[in-house]
Amino acid sequence: MSTTILVVEDEPAIQQLLSATLTRAGHDVIRADDGEHAMRLLNEALPDLVLLDWMLPGRSGIDIARRLRTEERTRAIPIIMLTARGDEQDKVSGLEVGADDYVTKPFSPRELIARIKAVLRRRAPHATDDPVELGGLRLDPATHRVTADDQPLGLGPTEFRLLCFLMHNPERVHSRAQLLDRVWGDHVFVEERTVDVHIRRLRSALEASGHDRLIQTVRGAGYRLSVDPGPQRGVG
Ligand code: CA
Repeated sequence: MSTTILVVEDEPAIQQLLSATLTRAGHDVIRADDGEHAMRLLNEALPDLVLLDWMLPGRSGIDIARRLRTEERTRAIPIIMLTARGDEQDKVSGLEVGADDYVTKPFSPRELIARIKAVLRRRAPHATDDPVELGGLRLDPATHRVTADDQPLGLGPTEFRLLCFLMHNPERVHSRAQLLDRVWGDHVFVEERTVDVHIRRLRSALEASGHDRLIQTVRGAGYRLSVDPGPQRGVG
């Protein structure tokens, strides 16, 4: 599945090079020239990963990383810091504020892509092409196929993304706003009841094999995918 990466870099030539490298690797790229611009973009939609230059005009990359980690909504976004400095102390500071990895300029495109892949696999498995299996369901992003007890299921693109996210983040309750952010990438312009519509469609696609029971409604909180049927409390 395509992954959206926010590139925050003030030097146009490097920003262009990063963007071309990531696009060639199949990622969707959005770009910001400085921290304020990045925060505005993040306010609109959450990317799957932020590639963050250390030296930026105004607010530094390290400040932005710290702020992303402090706020509930942006806390889980994977961050890779990018910098011309190779020094050990900088690396430590970057990791201390919560960056997931560190790439030194000049970067090798292959290394950058490999590191992005490793960080996504660790921090945002729903944004990778890795297949996932749970409770008799198997979903393969690379081939866009879902099976329930080995029987193929037809899912619309949104239901597919939704199921992919839920399967990679099971047993946790996700609010409608969180699902809009993580699955739709948009919590501003899409209404929360859109989530309910697609959950309903997903359940109906899973109904024939009985897997609809995995998708649970948690009243007043949101939705959860659970392989543990548990008490029927709050399930509907
Ligand atoms: Ca810079």
